[in-house]
Amino acid sequence: MSDCLFCRIAAGEVPADKVYEDERVVVFKDINPKAKVHLLVIPRIHLESLADLEPDHDKLMGYMMRLLPKLARDQGLEQGFRTIINTGKGGGQVIFHLHIHLVGGPGLPGF
Ligand code: AMP
Ligand code: ZN
Repeated sequence: MSDCLFCRIAAGEVPADKVYEDERVVVFKDINPKAKVHLLVIPRIHLESLADLEPDHDKLMGYMMRLLPKLARDQGLEQGFRTIINTGKGGGQVIFHLHIHLVGGPGLPGF
């Protein structure tokens, strides 16, 4: 059994409020939402962070990027949304399984 929390969520071993999944990705609600909508988009395969990407992952990353606006629309974010990828301790990454934060809704602060 993996000791990576997000691998375990992807495998269904740890419960999560999933809103979408397919053979490549799993999307679930952040347990501590920072906005009205706050989803986490993860690849099923374990990748620690952006710093671990290889050319082989280009297709997967492109797939995840193109999925974002569809997910946002499904969440009612017609006006737009924000994406954040924290990378490494210095970037505020806490869970070391690559994930894209998708946040949106009223009152999103400026950045
Ligand atoms: P990061 O700082 O980019 O590594 O973000 C990790 C995110 O994972 C935080 O926003 C947490 O609230 C979220 N998180 C941690 N544990 C869980 C969990 N079991 N289910 C859903 N989200 C989680
Ligand atoms: Zn993992």
